[in-house]
Amino acid sequence: MIRTRFAPSPTGNLHLGGLRTALFNFLLAKHEGGDFLLRIEDTDRIRSKREFTEDIMESLRWTGLMPDKTVFQSHRLNVYKRYAEKLIAEGKAYRCYCTKERLNKVKEEQRKRGEKPHYDGHCRNIKQILDKPFVVRIKLPQEDIVFEDGLRGNIRFRYSEFDDFIIMKSDGSPMYNFANVVDDFEMGITHVVRGDDHLTNTAKQIVLYRLLNLKVPQFIHIPLIMGEDKSRLSKRHGAKSVLEYRDEGYVREALINYLARLGWSYGDKEIFSLKELIEYFDIKHLHLSPAIFNPGKLLWLNEYYLRTLPLEKIYIYSKPFIERLFLEENIKQRFSEAYIKKAVDTVRVRTQTLKTLARDMLFYFKPPQEYEEKGVKKYCKKEVLSILEELYENLGYLESFDVESIKGVFDKITKRYDLKLIKVAQPVRIALTGKTISPGIFEMLEILGKNEALSRIKRLIEYLKA
Ligand code: GLU
Repeated sequence: MIRTRFAPSPTGNLHLGGLRTALFNFLLAKHEGGDFLLRIEDTDRIRSKREFTEDIMESLRWTGLMPDKTVFQSHRLNVYKRYAEKLIAEGKAYRCYCTKERLNKVKEEQRKRGEKPHYDGHCRNIKQILDKPFVVRIKLPQEDIVFEDGLRGNIRFRYSEFDDFIIMKSDGSPMYNFANVVDDFEMGITHVVRGDDHLTNTAKQIVLYRLLNLKVPQFIHIPLIMGEDKSRLSKRHGAKSVLEYRDEGYVREALINYLARLGWSYGDKEIFSLKELIEYFDIKHLHLSPAIFNPGKLLWLNEYYLRTLPLEKIYIYSKPFIERLFLEENIKQRFSEAYIKKAVDTVRVRTQTLKTLARDMLFYFKPPQEYEEKGVKKYCKKEVLSILEELYENLGYLESFDVESIKGVFDKITKRYDLKLIKVAQPVRIALTGKTISPGIFEMLEILGKNEALSRIKRLIEYLKA
């Protein structure tokens, strides 16, 4: 049974890199019908913040990567203490009472001698317990550290790169590497997917697994996400936190699809639902080359999903954005669900985000406040006035104001004046939306309804006359 975990430290909002790590762990577990756990690594009391924990949990909830269980390290301090005491009792770790001053002095001397600064083992052989503050250090075994990485094969570190490193701080809280090992064991974690910035941590953790006599999980270190300039992904590259993407109007389907393909592939397939990802995911197809963040591709996927997801879904997704628009624009009139849904369906085919989708819909809720000047100049020349008036009259006669009948009226007029549809459609478009780009003219007219549509055409006629 495969069991994976995502183990963020709540010292910041969840970003794309973290979400991708969570996703790969989630997929690896779910592909095998296993469990995906969340572990909040909140032992750093100063840097860990409740709001960041909430941000992480909300990001996972929003993207659909629901953990089967959540564990907080801050609730488990006594467990780490117990493990540390066991190591001390077995002579594999010891209390170190060295003061900062002493450590600094030792390091200074080592530097002078041209050595890499390291702990000199001063307290290794103190048997009795002193009444002084202490940290717990392990006795580093003098043998090379070797482990197998699921992507890179065997990895070897010289023990001389490390020293008797600390596992418990003087305030009784565990160091990251120690708590991480204890918990991965206690939570029954079989596979750990994480960024390759953790390779050195893994080496230290391997030491701890050996000292504690615990089975080592399968480690898979993935290359970090980089910007186009090959430096670590950051705000500079236009990367935002997961919830910022949500609030910008990205849909979860796009974000998940995008991140899955960032460092993993399945033939040349580009579009994956979460369900398909679970079905196809394997670690064999993770890439070893750095993953380069491409905001344009993410946007492309977002547009794709806005166009192709079921209307019902897009309607639900767009609701908060439309409500925000109502607030911003002070729109008091109520619109029916059916009306909004039809309107959403016409704008979703050529929009980028849920935010632009709501903006593109504004004219459905409110007549245009002004007409695009260039459009008026180009499409509303003198001779258009009589055509618009005739159209207004003929649309007024329609009993059923539907696409077919509306189209019939347009056909009649374009034929009689021997005009291309665009000559009639553009002025009407301007009348309805104020702009020259909008959804299909007949659909728009039908959705707006006869009264509203005619009153807008009339307003343009009057405007042109004036
Ligand atoms: N808390 C560590 C981090 O956020 C966890 C790394 C890991 O073991 O997955 O980087």
